[in-house]
Amino acid sequence: MKSENGFYGQYGGSYIPEILYSSQQQILHAFEDAKNDPAFLAELHKQWQQFSGRPTPLTFCANLTEHFGGAQIYLKREDLNHSGAHKMNNVIGQGLLVKRMGKKRVIAETGAGQHGIATALVAARLGLECTIYMGAKDIERQYPNVFWMKQLGATVVPVTTGAQTLRDALDEALRDWSSSHEDSHYLIGTSCGCAPFPEMVAFFQSVIGDEVREQSVAQFGQFPDRLYACVGGGSNACGLFLPFLDEKDVAMVGVEAGGKGLALGEHSIRLSHNLGQPGIAQGFATMFLQDQAGQLQETHSIAAGLDYVGVSPIIAHLAETGRIQMTYAMDDDVIAACTLLLKKEGIIPALESSHALAGAFKDAPNLPKTSRIVINLSGRGDKDIFNVAKAVQDEAFPQFLNDYLATYPVTTDNKEQNA
Ligand SMILES: *Cc1c(COP(=O)(O)O)cnc(C)c1O
Repeated sequence: MKSENGFYGQYGGSYIPEILYSSQQQILHAFEDAKNDPAFLAELHKQWQQFSGRPTPLTFCANLTEHFGGAQIYLKREDLNHSGAHKMNNVIGQGLLVKRMGKKRVIAETGAGQHGIATALVAARLGLECTIYMGAKDIERQYPNVFWMKQLGATVVPVTTGAQTLRDALDEALRDWSSSHEDSHYLIGTSCGCAPFPEMVAFFQSVIGDEVREQSVAQFGQFPDRLYACVGGGSNACGLFLPFLDEKDVAMVGVEAGGKGLALGEHSIRLSHNLGQPGIAQGFATMFLQDQAGQLQETHSIAAGLDYVGVSPIIAHLAETGRIQMTYAMDDDVIAACTLLLKKEGIIPALESSHALAGAFKDAPNLPKTSRIVINLSGRGDKDIFNVAKAVQDEAFPQFLNDYLATYPVTTDNKEQNA
């Protein structure tokens, strides 16, 4: 979606320190140039196809459709991308842009490790140096991802400031970029941040919706009636929705993380239910969860990828203008939706994607049998094994986990790999 000088209505913009201005302009011009260059687009499609396995299928779910007795349910299978989620679409795109700009190094921050892994994979393939900032607490919780990032050749820097999680890692990544921007690119993983990142990430993710346009016409002769996507930073939602924006008959629903409840600190609902406020942080204006003084608040979600205090300015604008409808799903409903997909269709969804499932499953019984909905299955659920085991109270699991941790001790010591 085209912005006006980086703005979507009142959201977006480029609130960055002056020192980063020339690099931001360079990215902006390189992106404008690249997206109109047939050679760049051909290379992008080749890498999507050969490295990530695109196009991903549009899968009809006969059992779920029968179960709910309403709309015909389809899944867009972003879980089948290399490394198991839609994140790869964007990382490949920005990786190619980095090569085009002649830079040699990428920096990224990661929470659960999904974006970190995707970035380390692409950096290895494209021959780029790679530094990943990660909260020390997250490193403990996500050690398998950290292990692979290191084996892929990335430097993983533990961040020990603040709560030692994603937000602190983001601050450190920005600090690095402020001093390294001449030869390094800050590879943002969602459609947030200063312009042109929201537009650029949305552009690379729009391959999702572009494919759904073709696949829906090929499979059932028309576009879907309704689209569903979970909304963390908003990139998979932008990817599915934006190619359908001008199709007035296609309804769109974004699903946020309702978490444990609507009290502050228990959820990540920024748009539905009027819980967020407009503000400026992290380089852009959007709806944030913040207090009266503008301080960003703690958030919660059972899905790490949705546990974020801001949201894409594109999604914030489309929600405000009513083009997309926003709702939320509570942790319990998310687990129920995940379990139902496992049992009915033999697919293991990510807990993030299970929010989109939960939102769609609530509507499906009340929609006409002739209607068709497409739910974006943004990622696979293998990574969520511990959270799902806890939620469904698998009693053997705590013992397994103890044995596993005894066999693979978690360490945040980074000296050895930097040596
Ligand atoms: C990171 C992630 C998300 C959330 O990111 P968006 O930018 O909102 O798409 C959703 N699903 C999965 C599987 C993820 O890994």
